[in-house]
Amino acid sequence: MADRIAPNPPSPYATADPNTRHLLPGLFGEPRPATLAPTGCDRLAVVPAEALRAAGDSNAFPPGICDTCIAAWYAALRGQELPDDRPTTDCRECQSQTRHDGLCALCRQDAHEEWTRTTEGAR
Ligand SMILES: [Zn+2]
Ligand SMILES: [Zn+2]
Repeated sequence: MADRIAPNPPSPYATADPNTRHLLPGLFGEPRPATLAPTGCDRLAVVPAEALRAAGDSNAFPPGICDTCIAAWYAALRGQELPDDRPTTDCRECQSQTRHDGLCALCRQDAHEEWTRTTEGAR
């Protein structure tokens, strides 16, 4: 029995479930560790220092991975996308349409970087 995989590192700007590990499809190349990246379940999570080795070339995902991310992974293999019924709202910073709860992905990535800088500076 494999160990349950640790969740993604926390951030106040992540929108993905903080209790599970999310898959990061890396549509724009390998995501940089500690940045906020889009997840398979179409939310945002922090990129962990150690990438998942099994994901991508194995049919079995280790325990602890987000169910929606896995469902999205298999849907993508069939050329499909999961339906998404979350409401869109205006981003409170840049007024673009977003499903990320009032603050869009780009503004969250900026805010997360700022947060990382200030928390690291405080140590
Ligand atoms: Zn997920
Ligand atoms: Zn925005």
